[in-house]
This record gives sequence, structure tokens and C-alpha cells, in this order.
Amino acid sequence: MTRLLIVGGGIAGLTLGHALLKHAPEVDFDLIEKVPAQRPAGAGIILAPNALPVLDGLGLYGPLRDHGHFLPYNQLCDHQGRTLQKLKGPEDRLLSFHRADLHQVLQDGLKNHLQQGISFQGQQQSKDQVQVQLSSGEVRSYDLLVGADGLRSKVRESCGGPDPVYSGYTSWRTVLTEAPHLPGASELWGHGRRLGLVPLSRGRIYLYFTLNARQNQDFLQGDACRIRELFAEFEGADQGLLERFRSDTPLIHTDIAELPHPYWGKNRTVLIGDAAHALTPNLGQGAGMGIEDAVLLAKLLGQHREVKTVLSELGRIRHPRVQTVQMVSRCLGKLGQLQNPTLVGLRDRLMRAGPANATPDWLWTPPLA
Ligand SMILES: Cc1cc2nc3c(=O)[nH]c(=O)nc-3n(C[C@H](O)[C@H](O)[C@H](O)COP(=O)(O)OP(=O)(O)OC[C@H]3O[C@@H](n4cnc5c(N)ncnc54)[C@H](O)[C@@H]3O)c2cc1C
Repeated sequence: MTRLLIVGGGIAGLTLGHALLKHAPEVDFDLIEKVPAQRPAGAGIILAPNALPVLDGLGLYGPLRDHGHFLPYNQLCDHQGRTLQKLKGPEDRLLSFHRADLHQVLQDGLKNHLQQGISFQGQQQSKDQVQVQLSSGEVRSYDLLVGADGLRSKVRESCGGPDPVYSGYTSWRTVLTEAPHLPGASELWGHGRRLGLVPLSRGRIYLYFTLNARQNQDFLQGDACRIRELFAEFEGADQGLLERFRSDTPLIHTDIAELPHPYWGKNRTVLIGDAAHALTPNLGQGAGMGIEDAVLLAKLLGQHREVKTVLSELGRIRHPRVQTVQMVSRCLGKLGQLQNPTLVGLRDRLMRAGPANATPDWLWTPPLA
């Protein structure tokens, strides 16, 4: 294996770039990203304690620590802000980021490989090569194509892989500046809706909202103020943040979907991250799973020359963990989105009766660090 194309400069694709430099330095790679350089990315994100040691292994922990915000805990609360369960992260291993900061750190060091503003259009495979058509009009030949192009992966589509399945709830995200100090992250569970409050570095706060809804519905109708009505049940526990919404407050709207059956690719195409196994965001593990995939793939590429072996080993090793995480995340989402008041009351009582610190060691122990 000598030449490889990574499609998608998100968290999984960028991590793979760093991991190749470390674990498979003989592999020559290009990384294409369809979004042009000048457009900043997204709202906030939490990297869990399994993800950070893996990035630390790539020498990235220092810069990540500088841009991230350490969360001493991440708690689940009822709609009035009373704690149901508190997850405490190991020292300095649960960090929140503005996505733009995280992407910046991950892009550093990959400038010689990254080409922004170019998208993957299609592919054709022969026995030894994969020919890739790009939006620039070029056709390039590689030994291996890696799809790290997210939930709606065009690379997956080009292999005949499965389509995402809608979860039944939608989401909005934003970042507010000059926010009140919050010691840790909280997710408030209401009736068919949730509100997340996550402190970020430099006095910013990341807010996310989920709501039971049919797919493709525009509830806000271009007026971000309506978020205050939709999430009014959290008033009093929202640190006064809902009041700060104006009609033009920027909000990112995403219908939550997943790929319940991971798909790892075919022949000379391998998929990682959301492209392979997008999961619901309820465990904060989408990025973590992509990071774990990326490092394992680079290690396999450093050890094996046969593409077939790399693909089968990736699926064999990753499949059980990814499926378990997807399943737990899906169940947590169903619990969090319960709407019936009786069931919500029962849920909250049961959660409160659980262990005070429910740290999920099975999840937060990185398999590869
Ligand atoms: C509301 C919400 C909250 C979340 N919160 C968390 C959290 O706190 N913690 C966590 O770990 N995960 C979280 N996730 C999940 C996380 O965002 C994803 O799992 C993660 O971003 C996936 O990374 P990725 O690199 O696989 O895909 P993506 O981030 O989707 O990156 C794919 C990249 O490929 C590019 N691309 C797409 N098509 C093409 C093409 N044809 N050609 C070239 N480039 C292309 C895209 O522009 C993009 O940059 C959340 C998700 C949602 C929806």
C-alpha cells in the first residue's frame, strides 16, 4: 500500500491523518474536505475520557488542553435542574471544545496533505487501484479510498452502503458568549425534550436542545426566539440563558439520525467515523468512536500490506464495541426523550435511586491507547 485518499476533514479524517504520520509513515496520503477553508465549523462538543488518551498518543493532548475546557463532571438533571446522575471524568480527561477550535488543532500539522474546497464525486475500482472523481474535474488513482465523510457519506453511497435512520427527535445547537460560570456540564431531561448546558473555554457556553418531532420539520420558522416557548419547561434551571435568545440568534438545526448497522466498506474502500456507524449523540461518543477507528486503521495499515486484511481486521475489532455504544446511546436517547408525565416521573425516580457516580469504566477506558 503506498497511496491513500481520505475523504472528509472532520474529526475522524483529521485524526487518521495524524495517526498515519505516526503509525504508517510509509503511506503517502491526500485528505480532501468539501468545505472551503474560511468557513468555521459548528457549535460545541465534549470529548470523552476514552478519546483523549488516544489523541494524546498522537502528541495532540497539549494543544487540545490549551483550547479545551476541563469538565469536572457531566450530569443528568430533571427539568428543574435537580441532579439525577453525575458522571465524574478522570483528571483532565473530560474536555469540552468549540468545534472550530478542535478542528484547528487537528488541522495543524496536516497542511501538506489537506486540500479544502474539493469534494468526492464518485469512484471506480479495478483489481489494484481505485479511481476517484473529484469536484475539481480531476480523476486520481489511489491504492485505498477512506470515507470519513460523515453521516450522509457519498463514499458509503458509492459502495451501495445503507442509509441513515431517523431517531424520532431533532436538535438545535448554539454557542453564547459572556455566559455565566458553570462548574460542569448538565443535560436537563424534560418531557419529550432536553436542554444541554456545556461551559467552553474563554467564557463561552454551548447550548443544545432536542425535541421529539417528525423529520424535516421547521419548528422555528426562521425565528430563534421560538426556542424559548418550546423549551419553557426548563425556565429557572437554564441559568437565564433562554431569555437571551433573539430572532436572529444563530442556531444549527440537525435531525438526529444513525446507521444502526455499521458498514466498514468494500474492496478498496474503507469507512470510518460517522460514515461507517453514525450514532445518536446521547453518550457524547460519535467523535470518540471515529477517533478510535482512525488510530486502529492507521496501525493496521502500518502492519499489513493487503487491503483485504486491513478491512476485515478493522470490522472484526471495532464492530462489537461500536454496536454496544450505539445501542446504549440509542436507549439513553429513548429514556431522555420520554414524553408521558407518568413515565417521566418514574424515570426520574429510578435515575435518582441509581449510584451517585455512575462512571462508565467500560466505555471510558480506551481500547487502543
Ligand atoms: C447534536 C449533536 C451533538 C453531538 N455531540 C457530540 C459530543 O458531545 N461528543 C461526541 O463525541 N460526538 C458528538 N456528536 C457526534 C459527532 O459530532 C460526530 O460523531 C462526529 O463529528 C463525526 O465525525 P466524522 O469526522 O466521522 O464526520 P463529520 O464530522 O460529519 O465530518 C465529515 C467531513 O466530511 C466532509 N465531507 C462530506 N462529504 C464530503 C465529500 N463528498 N467530499 C469531501 N468532503 C466531504 C464534511 O464537510 C465534514 O467536514 C454530536 C452530534 C450531534 C448531531
